[in-house]
Amino acid sequence: NLQDKLDRAFKVLKGQGNITEINVAETMKEIRKALLDADVNYKTAKAFTDEVKQKALGQNVLTSISPGQLLTKIMNDELTALMGGSATDLDLSKNPTVILIAGLNGAGKTTFSGKLAKYLKEKRGRKPLLVAGDVYRPAAIDQLEVLAQQVDVPVYTNRESKDPIGIAQAGVTEAKQKGYNVVIVDTAGRLAIDEALMNEISAVKDATQPHEILFVVDAMTGQDAVNTAKAFNDRLDFTGAVLTKLDGDTRGGAALSIKSVVNKPIKFIGTGEKMDALDVFHPDRMASRILGMGDVVSLVERAQQQFDEKEAAELQRKIRKNKFDFNDFKNQIQQIKKMGNMKDLMGMIPGVGKAIKDVDIDDDAFKPIEAIINSMTPYERENPDAIDQKRRARIAKGSGTDLVEVNKLMKQFGDMRKVMKQMSNPAAMARMMRGAP
Ligand code: GDP
Ligand code: MG
Repeated sequence: NLQDKLDRAFKVLKGQGNITEINVAETMKEIRKALLDADVNYKTAKAFTDEVKQKALGQNVLTSISPGQLLTKIMNDELTALMGGSATDLDLSKNPTVILIAGLNGAGKTTFSGKLAKYLKEKRGRKPLLVAGDVYRPAAIDQLEVLAQQVDVPVYTNRESKDPIGIAQAGVTEAKQKGYNVVIVDTAGRLAIDEALMNEISAVKDATQPHEILFVVDAMTGQDAVNTAKAFNDRLDFTGAVLTKLDGDTRGGAALSIKSVVNKPIKFIGTGEKMDALDVFHPDRMASRILGMGDVVSLVERAQQQFDEKEAAELQRKIRKNKFDFNDFKNQIQQIKKMGNMKDLMGMIPGVGKAIKDVDIDDDAFKPIEAIINSMTPYERENPDAIDQKRRARIAKGSGTDLVEVNKLMKQFGDMRKVMKQMSNPAAMARMMRGAP
């Protein structure tokens, strides 16, 4: 996938002292190849790598930051900008707000219509009405009705009519009469872009004057997704794109290209067939995911897997009472180690990734700390305050470390206890242990 390819591209820079015209050019070539392989459109990939290269060359490389790390940061910022900077919300200010759903057959329009209805109802407190505008196949109406029932949103249909324009208009009228404040008009697609389809959807647009036109596209169609987006945008001037089927191993190239090719924001991504598999599109999160820099969601999930809730509650209690001792400390280190590669994990925490990138954190970092704690007696572990200089000297000897290191740990442990009331999460703790800011 894209991630692996970028990793390989960065390897070119590994071990290089600083960013020079030559090594950055080579790396950019690799990155461009990786982007093209991930279905990013050529113009986008070229513009992107040129921009990154220019920024990289203008940077003073700090000795503590490797060129690869610096490039990752620059790329993260650029990718985020490329995908629109920040999330773009729907305009829901009108009453009713009319949302027209457009796209090719099989893109996921009907599925998305259902998901959007659920999202607007449950997350945005709206009263949506679905409109079945795909009049050519009775099965399409059935499908929307099934989904509407699942999400418990009413749907306007007219099985006698073969006139999508009339149905869309009637749907909006129905919404006004019955007090629905959002109208989601599902429409028919075609297998490929053709005049009949474009004429029909344009006519629906003219008749209903939608406030949002969402172009739904299957992310798995790669480069075609961008071409389709361009064709629909030329005719409809849509207000946002929805990338579906971004679950599983789908390449993210379309997400990178769409914004730059049609200059319209991606507003949602579909990540599965179920009605709750919908996410608001966040460019920064997508960029982080692509680069493997940070993903708060997976961090939380991983942390949750490892932390027994009861244990956490007990720990909280101890922290509150300032009874946190070396046994708990040792426990926490083990928990942290269980969660996997330290640096990866901490990189997922916003703000921390940057702070630790010049700090060498790995499981080995805990070895001397664990050795010191192992050399304490049970009494000492439970009573950190009782560990005087004499005990420290013994612990240093027993653990194969030295007094300086033991003192350092004692000081850090003391500091840590002080601030633990606010920061009771393991990552923050690990940061303090390393003495990082
Ligand atoms: P339409 O022809 O544009 O209305 O497309 P549909 O909504 O009928 O979807 C076509 C197929 O894609 C269906 O089997 C959906 O279940 C599936 N689908 C839609 N969105 C997603 C998604 O985000 N992820 C996955 N895995 N499947 C999806
Ligand atoms: Mg459909």
